[in-house]
Amino acid sequence: MTSDISFEEAVDKIIDEDADYENVTEECFTSTKSFWNFPCAHRQYRHDGNCHLIHGYSRSFHFVFGIKSFTKEGFAVDYGDLKELKAHLDHMYDHTLVLDEDDPHMDKFRQLENAGVCRIRTHPMGPGMEGTAHYLCEWTDKWLRKRTRGRAWVISVEARENDKNSSIYTNPNAGFKGWIG
Ligand SMILES: [Zn+2]
Repeated sequence: MTSDISFEEAVDKIIDEDADYENVTEECFTSTKSFWNFPCAHRQYRHDGNCHLIHGYSRSFHFVFGIKSFTKEGFAVDYGDLKELKAHLDHMYDHTLVLDEDDPHMDKFRQLENAGVCRIRTHPMGPGMEGTAHYLCEWTDKWLRKRTRGRAWVISVEARENDKNSSIYTNPNAGFKGWIG
């Protein structure tokens, strides 16, 4: 004779058996923050198609943060602490022109910048969404660890140029690296 139990009873049984919250640590939590709609131009001089021409997008950024422990308020990351990150995003992508560091026309672009026509910004890995996600991950990870004395770090950054296209860079150095200061 088999004693069938209902689906609900089976789930309750599994949950009861696994009701071990001992292994739920603060390190299990992540938090995210998004920044929307930065008016920004760029050009990718190596591109054979239209992308070698200066063109613009409304860029957005999505950060995922990891932590060793909560703040005293029980937050993973206190969003009030991110003002410097927002200021850096404004500096980099609000009415700016993002170029390759080795753009063959850089001299001319610098002349235009000196004439007050544009503000040039560069990334080590180029002006596209890949280079942007990589740059922001490196900058923000360094900044956030310092800001939180090592308590929090960046897991990944998504850089989005429009509704359709984005690139995600995953931090190969994520995780706790020790307390700072
Ligand atoms: Zn393009």
